Amino acid sequence: MKLKNDRYKKTRGGRSRLLQISCQKCTSPLCLYQKDGPGNLRRMYMDRIIEPNVSLARKDFTCENGHLVGVKIIYEKERRPAFRLFVDSVIKKIIKA
Ligand SMILES: [Zn+2]
Repeated sequence: MKLKNDRYKKTRGGRSRLLQISCQKCTSPLCLYQKDGPGNLRRMYMDRIIEPNVSLARKDFTCENGHLVGVKIIYEKERRPAFRLFVDSVIKKIIKA
């Protein structure tokens, strides 16, 4: 799987990891995610979500069992749609460093 390499990645230091994102409550898989740069995962940008297991079309981001893990926002600085994640709502597992 090829990671995206664009201006968003460059402004975050140019390093990315591929993460498996799962629901914290029931461990059902949500998606793969390309995390750019260091720091905690506080939001997930739509253009970095890969192979989602759940619908991304709604405002609420929920697992297949209905647990709410985040809400859709526009990250104003980059005018970039994203899901703002609630604290401790997801499990992150590094697939590719
Ligand atoms: Zn769940």
